[in-house]
Amino acid sequence: MDFQLVLDQINAELRPLLGQQGQVARYIPALARVSPAQFGIALRTCDGQTAQAGDSAVPFSIQSVSKVFSLTLAIKALGEALWTRIGREPSGSPFNSLVQLETERGIPRNPFINAGAIAVADRLVTLGDGKAELLALLSRLCGEPVAIDAEVAQSEADTGFRNTALANFMKGFGTLDNDITTVLDVYFNQCAIAMTCEQLACAAGYLCRDGRHPLAGTPVLSPAQARRVNALMLTCGTYDAAGEFAFCIGLPCKSGVGGGIVAVVPDHLTLCVWSPALDPTGNSLLGRQALELFVAKTGLSVF
Ligand code: GLU
Repeated sequence: MDFQLVLDQINAELRPLLGQQGQVARYIPALARVSPAQFGIALRTCDGQTAQAGDSAVPFSIQSVSKVFSLTLAIKALGEALWTRIGREPSGSPFNSLVQLETERGIPRNPFINAGAIAVADRLVTLGDGKAELLALLSRLCGEPVAIDAEVAQSEADTGFRNTALANFMKGFGTLDNDITTVLDVYFNQCAIAMTCEQLACAAGYLCRDGRHPLAGTPVLSPAQARRVNALMLTCGTYDAAGEFAFCIGLPCKSGVGGGIVAVVPDHLTLCVWSPALDPTGNSLLGRQALELFVAKTGLSVF
């Protein structure tokens, strides 16, 4: 298949719509300043072919896409033990909701809502320097140095009242072992990592290759662990729209409020789209349309 042609077509179809619909995330000041008139798409196949179009080399704030990689570090280190404190069910509630934590005694529903990702960050703090390990993992996976955008990280910390509430609530139930400030520092910084579509399409590559490193071929996760990350992406990766994404796109995806979405076609390729304007569910509006066009044009889907 000529993937470059497919991505060029998608870029040509969607570019005229840039800036017309949706809104950039406003609740973090540093994200509110990003221009909505940007669209990038990139993919990397299992055998190393790449294709890219639009603003695919522009770094953006990966936000909740980072939750895939923090989960990867935690699964790798802890295996099944991770699941004693974190669930695996879609939440059906907003990503920053406190409500279910009360009824479920401080156990977050899944690792991709904020509470779950904060619980994962707590595990990483127990294991070592979570921030440094995450940056090192991402840099190894995409073969280039990856950095944190300090302004976004500060903005997250300055406005992270709900995340602080989630952390305190879980600490009250005994879900977190470590000091809340240290745990949130990892969480806020992981959200503020800046990467391009091209880097993310490469970095996620282990998820379409049974857990093997996209460049080196060495194990990042076991095949069973990689399958589980994909399952969680499909069921919980796109906020309250995970059902719609499965229905309309049919690929494991993880989105972030920076407008990025990473998608996996197991045994074929990984794909990243980015456009900062979001739909009401917090997913990139054009990113979602791009993924729908991609599966329509290629017929690639897990179903
Ligand atoms: N830093 C964001 C927050 O926790 C991440 C949100 C997201 O991308 O879902 O509010």
